[in-house]
Amino acid sequence: LPRTGLARFSGTRPRTGRVPVGIGGRRQRIVVTGGAGFVGSHLVDKLIARGDDVIVIDNFFTGRKENLVHLFGNPRFELIRHDVVEPILLEVDQIYHLACPASPVHYKYNPVKTIKTNVMGTLNMLGLAKRIGARFLLTSTSEVYGDPLEHPQKETYWGNVNPIGERSCYDEGKRTAETLAMDYHRGAGVEVRIARIFNTYGPRMCLDDGRVVSNFVAQVNGLVALMESEHVGPFNLGNPGEFTMLELAQVVKETIDSSATIEYKPNTADDPHMRKPDISKAKELLNWEPKIPLREGLPLMVNDFRNRILNENEGKGM
Ligand code: NAD
Ligand code: UDP
Repeated sequence: LPRTGLARFSGTRPRTGRVPVGIGGRRQRIVVTGGAGFVGSHLVDKLIARGDDVIVIDNFFTGRKENLVHLFGNPRFELIRHDVVEPILLEVDQIYHLACPASPVHYKYNPVKTIKTNVMGTLNMLGLAKRIGARFLLTSTSEVYGDPLEHPQKETYWGNVNPIGERSCYDEGKRTAETLAMDYHRGAGVEVRIARIFNTYGPRMCLDDGRVVSNFVAQVNGLVALMESEHVGPFNLGNPGEFTMLELAQVVKETIDSSATIEYKPNTADDPHMRKPDISKAKELLNWEPKIPLREGLPLMVNDFRNRILNENEGKGM
């Protein structure tokens, strides 16, 4: 199939002059799969603010329309309810492929569906990228390092992953997604970008996410910097500040609620014992590093959680 020449298509569209234009001085059409989710919706905000046309594809498994409701009515924004496990035809310049539940609570809920999303979903989006000549960014994860035997983890580390464990649908799924991305890159010349995101927190996160918080969501800047760069990756995007779970619990007590009590519970299966990104590569090649310390970021997330819980309770007449 011939490439459809999307660059030409978007380049000839009239500019209004009122909106800022995207990188390179022209508006781009960008798909964000999983754009109704936590990280995706912040990314969409950034792209819209930059002046791009954004299409979100989401099946609303963990994502919520509320995360995007402020964009409804914006002519540069489009929301499609679609499951990436099914093929789709679109014409765009760039694909940010985020669709996949990220929290263990959600990805263990239906492990086979998680695998299908990671493998078939990524295959479909890469097939789309190949057909239309779009650049493709995968949001992979620090989970590809498994329970790491190297500390801190550099991108060159191959990981220590249990292939048959409860978390495998996610970590092996993402490892296969990375493999697919590299095979489409080497075999079909698709321009791919791979980000390995470490635990991220912030407003709009699922209330029941339940993961350790480390890196504030402002890191979507890292995703955009990677997409616009000439580097394939993978790149670690995370916060190298290290703390124990007890230290984290104490920060939560100090910054959020001094009356909170700390409980000790058994850990879940295959949970990594230590993880810390080596981000020298992202610093050097993308000029990216996290900027928001935990003590500043935590209250921003907690205010958002409080407001949402309040609104939900009001909705129930409580
Ligand atoms: P999230 O659960 O908030 O968002 C995922 C989005 O994908 C949701 O809107 C969900 O409805 C959608 N989705 C899931 N399966 C889909 C499917 N089959 N078809 C279409 N849409 C589907 O998670 P998040 O924290 O925003 O994570 C986004 C991406 O970043 C994921 O790929 C995740 O693996 C990756 N990541 C996140 C973190 C983190 O700490 N948040 C860490 C590492 C990697
Ligand atoms: N695909 C898609 N949209 C497109 C092009 C492809 O969803 O615009 C899907 C397609 O249905 C297939 C997958 O992407 O399942 C891989 O496509 P590719 O052309 O690379 O492989 P093939 O279809 O030749 O096996």
